[in-house]
Amino acid sequence: MKTKINKARFPFLKTLEEFDFSFQPALNQKEVSKLSSLEFLDNKENLLFLGPPGVGKSHLAVALGIKACMAKHRVVFTTAQKLLEELALSLKEGSFTERLLSYSRLNLLIIDELGYMPVNKEQANLLFRLISMRYEKGSIILTSNYNFDEWGVIFSDQVVAVAIIDRLVHHARIFYINGASYRLKDKLKKTKGNGRNSD
Ligand code: ADP
Ligand code: MG
Repeated sequence: MKTKINKARFPFLKTLEEFDFSFQPALNQKEVSKLSSLEFLDNKENLLFLGPPGVGKSHLAVALGIKACMAKHRVVFTTAQKLLEELALSLKEGSFTERLLSYSRLNLLIIDELGYMPVNKEQANLLFRLISMRYEKGSIILTSNYNFDEWGVIFSDQVVAVAIIDRLVHHARIFYINGASYRLKDKLKKTKGNGRNSD
């Protein structure tokens, strides 16, 4: 299990048990907790966590990734930016097919932070090929700070963007997390303590 977790290259280790659902009341705790059964992996379903920074999207992705590792699944965590750079490089070096194959062997691919960097035409095509290859074969957890209707901002090629969304969403559970940033939680309290708020 340790090797699986090491191989997954998580940026940090956080569990579902450490997630404070009371801080994100709009998020359906029951629905998220049910994901621990990992049924979504057996069904080759995708999970999408969408919402602004700091609401726990990466936390939930890592926590479910760890659960998958514990169940001996092959998992890799990467960011959209890293993934796209890697795919573009492999294309240049003539190892793109090999790269795709290595990703196809995973039970779960976690793509974090789609939207922080714009996706150019070539990158969109590479991402499309990756998503198409995993379509109905293996799960993806994707996090983004943009909702689908705003993906036009991320992708310069709208046709490919729509095709990507189509395949991602066909068998997916989508969680919109629109609450407050957990990162700012203590900062906001401090502001209150500073006497800027009367209560
Ligand atoms: P996002 O990916 O949505 O920007 P993160 O998952 O990175 O946010 O969360 C930011 C930090 O706050 C992380 O350290 C995470 O563990 C923590 N965090 C976020 N939401 C919660 C929560 N509801 N309960 C406990 N910790 C949280
Ligand atoms: Mg994040």
